[in-house]
Amino acid sequence: MHEFDLIRRFFSRPGGREDTILGVGDDCALLDPAGNEVLAATIDTLVAGVHFLPDTDPGKLGYKALAVSLSDLAAMGAEPAWGFLALTLPEADPVWLESFSRGLYDLATRHRMDLAGGDTTRGPLTITLQAIGRVPKACSMLRSGARSGDDIYVSGLLGQAGLGLKMLTGEVAWRDRAAIDRLLSPEPRVALGMTLRGVAHACIDISDGLAADLGHILESCGLGATIRWEALPLAPAVRHYIEQTGDWRLPLYGGDDYELCFTAPPSQRRVLEQSLPSCDVSWHRIGTIEERQGLRLVKGGEVISLPQAGYRHF
Ligand code: ADP
Ligand code: MG
Repeated sequence: MHEFDLIRRFFSRPGGREDTILGVGDDCALLDPAGNEVLAATIDTLVAGVHFLPDTDPGKLGYKALAVSLSDLAAMGAEPAWGFLALTLPEADPVWLESFSRGLYDLATRHRMDLAGGDTTRGPLTITLQAIGRVPKACSMLRSGARSGDDIYVSGLLGQAGLGLKMLTGEVAWRDRAAIDRLLSPEPRVALGMTLRGVAHACIDISDGLAADLGHILESCGLGATIRWEALPLAPAVRHYIEQTGDWRLPLYGGDDYELCFTAPPSQRRVLEQSLPSCDVSWHRIGTIEERQGLRLVKGGEVISLPQAGYRHF
């Protein structure tokens, strides 16, 4: 199977979008966004051995490669539209490719996204996915948009994916299906992101742990925050892990949850209570944006100063 057979066989499904004028097959894709919108574009790379364990199921990889980019679109309030896939493979294994492309297309179809192009090369397994979405002008939620006095919210549960990773690497001897599923198949919060348009001041997706990602918001707007330990949403397995090990930092520093962290003024609480239940994910108010710089955690009455560092490649 040579390069063009591979593309034709696995990555040339016709898209369904009316704003895709031309998809896979020519030198460029031709896209036709509406004039009153801006495009939100993001790109992410998954490297074998860095972002996933080498024996990861290819269907789950195809899913996750797209899910992490959709999560970035969600954090900007964008509606997913197009994906571009740059795939570097050690070999053209049809069984691997079938499973990988199915995982990717399943998620793309769910979000009405067209795979509109890409590039295919030979080398160590590396998956790069660019996602492009559409968002009404002036509706995107920048990291720099948080204001002093804003409430801080997170969606879903924290620390599950980090616990799942400890299970797969053998650091934790017991298993929890939900934690491992969260690591391998995170759910991008696309509907939530779109619902937050015009309501949230700032939003970020939690890829490196809450402390690091909330830290990015604080850095961008030159403010600080206090969050409450008792308000953090934790899965039973994460609570169990913390009771066993004393490692309460996991939900703050574990990566890969792909939930959203967002801020909104207290005047929007009612609006959020009315609009968010349609988004199919829980949400929790966990703290407050403050003038005073730094990130603080109130835990059992004690105030703990939290470092804001996440995973750094270099
Ligand atoms: P070019 O040489 O002009 O860059 P390529 O030969 O790399 O074109 O690709 C041919 C067509 O197939 C292009 O439309 C490209 O976008 C698409 N394509 C290549 N690889 C992939 C892939 N892995 N997934 C989706 N589309 C792909
Ligand atoms: Mg090319």
